[in-house]
Amino acid sequence: MEKQHESKRNRLVLVMYPLQGHMNPILDLASVLHSRGFSITVAHTTLNPPDPASFPDFTFLPISDGISTWDISPSNLVNLAYTINRNCAAPFKGCLSQIIHQEEQHGRVVCVIYDFLMHFAETAANEFNLPSIIFRTSNAAALLAFCTMAELSAQGQDFIARDSPSDDLVPGLFPLRFKDLPISSMGSLEKFSQLLAVVCSSRSSSAIIFNTTDCLENFPLTQLRRHYQIPFFHLGPLHRMAPKKPTNLVKDKNNCIKWLEKQARNSVIYVSLGSIATMDEKDLTEMAWGLALSEQPFLWVIRTCESEKKQLPEGFHELVGERGCVVEWAHQIEVLSHPAVGAFFTHCGWNSTLESICEGVPMICKPYFADQTVNARYLTHEWGLGIELGNVIQRTEIEKAVRRILVENEGVEMRQKAISLREQIKKCIKEGGCANNSLNEFVQFLSSFSE
Ligand code: UDP
Repeated sequence: MEKQHESKRNRLVLVMYPLQGHMNPILDLASVLHSRGFSITVAHTTLNPPDPASFPDFTFLPISDGISTWDISPSNLVNLAYTINRNCAAPFKGCLSQIIHQEEQHGRVVCVIYDFLMHFAETAANEFNLPSIIFRTSNAAALLAFCTMAELSAQGQDFIARDSPSDDLVPGLFPLRFKDLPISSMGSLEKFSQLLAVVCSSRSSSAIIFNTTDCLENFPLTQLRRHYQIPFFHLGPLHRMAPKKPTNLVKDKNNCIKWLEKQARNSVIYVSLGSIATMDEKDLTEMAWGLALSEQPFLWVIRTCESEKKQLPEGFHELVGERGCVVEWAHQIEVLSHPAVGAFFTHCGWNSTLESICEGVPMICKPYFADQTVNARYLTHEWGLGIELGNVIQRTEIEKAVRRILVENEGVEMRQKAISLREQIKKCIKEGGCANNSLNEFVQFLSSFSE
């Protein structure tokens, strides 16, 4: 079939939040929707812009955010969301007005899809009588937990402010305990509570999209359907739904794939805390000695911002030699899909969680903030794919956990469960599967806006 000219297609404007864990899934969503015949404009902040060269089919629309630099650390995240919403509202309205009025060149804009943290986009869409859709980059269980927290704090329960929340189960949120709730360490409590209310509201948007699937999150999705009165689409895992990227875009700059090639099957522990969480110097030292003591091969990502400030202990590299590979960044999906990788030491960000499940790799869970505690609890107590680590990182605990997951029978059983879940997800994505059906319904829903 002849490819429709871009300007004749219906155009979607996707509004991206400038953190890696939000950028990857919205770009995957954009690729999925482009493959279904829509023209794509990605609106992004000038902070942390995406690389347009990697997405030649999309139009990119920079929105001036007035931020020159930002310390992207957990304690600064709530502030970042506030600043972006305040600074980007007017410039985005201007940009949207321009592309709406350049229909000949850009195609007709039919809808604005925005990252749930970019809620200024909904106000702008309303002004131009455009429908808007919320895109949730994290999972349904985390949203359900956020909504429950908002309800509990509205009833006057002060658990958000408590220093050490309890081990008790949260009523209606099995298997979550109070201490698994995504309680903020991301900035001021007052601002966090206000953000909770915004995050849980569907505002005037027409639908919500989740990067998840029914076979992982049937319970929270069912609960949320009762809570919200608007259509729901679970289109994940989006990195698996999106057309495959050309392999030449994936460069093994750090040679870690070459190093993996030399390791035995299922023998390597891959260690990465995503793009925001960091270990302090003490934890880094404990981690290093824990990996050394485990005597298992490891691939460890220590981001530049960390390695500039903190040093690995003296004698560590000499001790581990070729058994360890330390890099500043790895192409995670490629690493997780490598047969040598037997387990993942993770902070349990939602993308990392999905990516690991989709490759059938069990996890050692060390959550830090936001939805990570919820994901860790689901991994360890709902899906049975993870080992929970205590709050304090200790070398002997690391050594034990690494050996349990790579060497002992417990790890073999977890890997079997992970593989079985991976196969279920593959079915969900295939024609007739729940994720594929949900995508078809979503495409129909979007098409109804242009009738
Ligand atoms: N990532 C990567 N290489 C790394 C670390 C992270 O490609 O060395 C990617 C990872 O595949 C995932 C994203 O960055 O898609 C991190 O998102 P996640 O939700 O796991 O965590 P966050 O960074 O938001 O805390």
